[in-house]
Amino acid sequence: MTEKCGVVGVSLDGRDAARPLYYALYALQHRGQESAGIITHDGFQQHSHVEMGLVGEVFDESDLDVLNGTAGIGHVRYPTAGSVDSSCAQPFSVSFKSGSLGLSHNGNLVNADEIRDELAGVGHAFTSDGDTEVIAHDLARNLLEEDLVRAVKHTMGRIHGSYALTISHDDTVLGVRDPQGNRPLCLGKLEDGYILASESAAIDTLDGDLVRDVRPGELIVLEKDGQGYDSYQLVENDNTAHCFFEHVYFARPDSVIDETLVYEARRNLGRRLWEESGVETDVVMPVPDSGRAFASGYADAASETTADGEMREEDDDGVEFAEGLMKNRYVGRTFIMPTQDERERAVRLKLNPIKSTVEGKTVTLIDDSIVRGTTSTQLVQLLKDCGAAEVHMRIGAPEIVAPCYMGIDMATREELIASDKTVDQIRTAIDAESLAYLSTDSVADVLGKDRIDLCLGCVTGNYPYEIDGEETDRDVTRPELGDQPMYADD
Ligand code: AMP
Repeated sequence: MTEKCGVVGVSLDGRDAARPLYYALYALQHRGQESAGIITHDGFQQHSHVEMGLVGEVFDESDLDVLNGTAGIGHVRYPTAGSVDSSCAQPFSVSFKSGSLGLSHNGNLVNADEIRDELAGVGHAFTSDGDTEVIAHDLARNLLEEDLVRAVKHTMGRIHGSYALTISHDDTVLGVRDPQGNRPLCLGKLEDGYILASESAAIDTLDGDLVRDVRPGELIVLEKDGQGYDSYQLVENDNTAHCFFEHVYFARPDSVIDETLVYEARRNLGRRLWEESGVETDVVMPVPDSGRAFASGYADAASETTADGEMREEDDDGVEFAEGLMKNRYVGRTFIMPTQDERERAVRLKLNPIKSTVEGKTVTLIDDSIVRGTTSTQLVQLLKDCGAAEVHMRIGAPEIVAPCYMGIDMATREELIASDKTVDQIRTAIDAESLAYLSTDSVADVLGKDRIDLCLGCVTGNYPYEIDGEETDRDVTRPELGDQPMYADD
């Protein structure tokens, strides 16, 4: 089960949380289109509305009107192939002896099954096969004996994997990021309260100010009256494992993640792509929307230097940036594509070339990534059908050779075109004149991080967590379960 999602939590001074949560979820819709949900608490009682569908479909005025309370959390969930299942829709809620809990989770645990078995063995009944419910039950159990901070720390010592969580415990809202900070989570200040959200674009939507990223291993507890927050660094870690793919594809370009504006990162990756493997063609065009910032950075760099790295002559403008592919905005990521045939049809529905910008020209086509190779194969063919003289493909990320276990719904290893093909074999498969990917070292360099501080599992096959049957690139220990918690009581 992979969970590629958006989470949010707010605590306000005297104003209901439902509408700000609703707008924030709208801003995070790109992170998940399968289900949406909000849980609020009015000091006495928890209110919940969680359904399958887009944010705009799931909530109407009357739904928001009954979500009372100044504190709450929200969630949008990404569709994962084959598992369109309402039991996994979130926030997940559970009521127990010492109150009610709500949980929104982005990420994926590696040891959820072990914890589920252990808890089931002592009488916990589970209603889904998702790992979020496992975290909720573990936390609920700890809260019977410990205060909130200690209970969270205790649970963090038992779960292994990636998680950015917003949690409501009655009318207290908290946010937690896993010790390696794999998934993003940030803190913002609103006029009358505080917000925790997967991406800063959600804070902007509410006219708030980004305070900072939640630190890896940190717990933030929002004060009930919206006046402030408390921070607890529950786990220290030498290295981070920020997902590089958030910067490359997943996050909104207008979000700031781990102190980097995503748009700027993509433009700089595009610039580096030109420096590494630029090719002098008549035009460069993006695959909309994913390749746009890369292509603009690429064209910018190409206007300054030649593909050989020489400064351009005054009268040489470089490679012209052109929008040669138009996107049908009404074909969302929700398009259900279980078969290869349907995936190919979807590309054609989604993108249509502008013949006059392509005909007779040599073209560089830029995208952020190649997953199965369906999009690139189709687009190269489409451009050639429109009369392109040559099509050169440039990709703003390295080859994706291995699956993601950390929360990005990518594809199985067998489906990934680069898992068993060389770059030249892929070039042949997509029928391009040339193909080049950005190197892994350049990605780390452009993002301003050491390789060891990024999760590069999908491009190296080495993961920052201990996953059965896979290699890890660092010294990580999967917790041994049992009565002895890893982080509590120290
Ligand atoms: P493919 O056609 O399978 O090679 O997919 C490549 C296209 O899908 C590119 O245009 C990417 O921007 C986009 N893409 C990359 N990763 C994902 C993902 N996890 N989910 C959906 N689309 C993606």
